[in-house]
Amino acid sequence: MMNRQGRKSGTGGIAAGEAPETFTGHSGLDHVEPLIFEIGDNAKTGVDLPAPGDFTPALGGLARQQPSGLAGGGLPGLSEPEVIRHYTRLSRKNYAIDSGLYPLGSCTMKHNPRLNEKIARIPGLSDVHPLQPISTVQGSLKVMDELAHWLKTLTGMPAIALSPKAGAHGELCGLMAIRTALEARGDARSLVLVPESAHGTNPATAALCGYGVKSIPANARGRVDLDLLKEALDDNVAALMLTNPNTCGLFEDQVIEIAEAVHAAGAFFYCDGANFNAIVGRVRPGDLGVDAMHLNLHKTFSTPHGGGGPGSGPVVFSEALAPFIPLPEVVSDGEGLRLREHPGDGDRSFGRMTAFHGQMGMFLRALAYMYSHGADGLRQVAEDAVLNANYVLAGLKDVMSLSYDGPCMHEALFDDSFLKGTGVETLDFAKAMIDEGFHPMTMYFPLVVHGAMLIEPTETESKASLDEFIFALRSLAEAAKAGDTARFAGAPHLAPLRRLDETAAARKPILRWVPNSSVEP
Ligand SMILES: *Cc1c(COP(=O)(O)O)cnc(C)c1O
Repeated sequence: MMNRQGRKSGTGGIAAGEAPETFTGHSGLDHVEPLIFEIGDNAKTGVDLPAPGDFTPALGGLARQQPSGLAGGGLPGLSEPEVIRHYTRLSRKNYAIDSGLYPLGSCTMKHNPRLNEKIARIPGLSDVHPLQPISTVQGSLKVMDELAHWLKTLTGMPAIALSPKAGAHGELCGLMAIRTALEARGDARSLVLVPESAHGTNPATAALCGYGVKSIPANARGRVDLDLLKEALDDNVAALMLTNPNTCGLFEDQVIEIAEAVHAAGAFFYCDGANFNAIVGRVRPGDLGVDAMHLNLHKTFSTPHGGGGPGSGPVVFSEALAPFIPLPEVVSDGEGLRLREHPGDGDRSFGRMTAFHGQMGMFLRALAYMYSHGADGLRQVAEDAVLNANYVLAGLKDVMSLSYDGPCMHEALFDDSFLKGTGVETLDFAKAMIDEGFHPMTMYFPLVVHGAMLIEPTETESKASLDEFIFALRSLAEAAKAGDTARFAGAPHLAPLRRLDETAAARKPILRWVPNSSVEP
């Protein structure tokens, strides 16, 4: 018999490393859950309404002629407990930072304090509309103004745009300001330099902004090769986009020389600040010669992310770019705070990034996080994030292969050379982690090392949870080397679904259920 997911049921023999198959297809207490339409039934309803009876004519002929179920209006009929079970079961399939360690490198998946949520739900701050009279939203403007102040203070930069809605959107904002500044001095340039370890959004942003992209190779230490960078810098280069700490988890220790070389060529220095979590409170990017940098509030400042929820990517700017930043901007006049929405005479703002002012809920969460930590607490965030990553690095480096020698910043980068000859690849190794109860690390990124595994534990993991994680990865590395390929080949064995066709999912997404497929109502 096949259950709904096409898994064979019945308790046949169990191969080594295979999970037992069951009659139901359920695994432990985790239920196979069909689509709600597949479990619905015309005869069932979740509410007890009196039969229309004599009232039918009074409905003015609008009474439903067909049953409301699948055969009619396409609504699945379920009882209340069935609906609740359906959604509760689905919610249990969602791995989250609230259920376990989430070591995705470059993503900074850290705990989001519940205090932030409480603050973001204060009615006077959550129930506002962007078109409300300005005198009635002074509190919200104050939140934006305070947040702007602290982000500028922490980064040592004089100007900020709060409206970008994610890191990638912030990159676009930064490059648009750079392009406007270059055009204002009559010096349109056509090239953006991007190190080869960069996040894919960097070259994509440059291209979207109309620039050609030139890739700068890394040196043997996993940092930008300064000599090659200097060779590539000429009067056609608009900007360098550099991530620091970079996506190999390493601090670009020649950043001052890099900034000087970029400025000497008349170009701007854009810093991808997605990894600010590693240096917040310790280093001010303004002191490093940065001209523009986005901050991912949904990474460094603990606003929730993942699953496509709202992000927020404010951009801080240097003096040189300040005249060109987008509007609106919170300003203070004699009567209080207001939003400067339109460019004035001689103003060179490039315009707006969004219809309104940005992600208010994220601003509140980030500000609550900053206030509750204070300056010392934020510095400790960076220190603990780096300490935790190095603890993981030290716990794994003798069984896995570290890509670059020496300590790391907030994430540890391994390559797949420790798996050589085992028949196990990075993907198999990562899938086997699911059976151990861990979300996989970032795989195959950055592209500069073969079969990359990028692990970012963040500062919010305890020593006990790091120890458990290290234990699991050490066991897997040893199993791979001992030839236990069955454990890896079909992994994950214990997840509700096994290997998915990720390419087809991206290329041919099926985004809605089509009535009357093979399912009987
Ligand atoms: C996350 C990330 C981005 C993009 O940020 P989004 O908020 O996801 O758009 C860019 N660069 C790096 C290094 C990142 O980690």
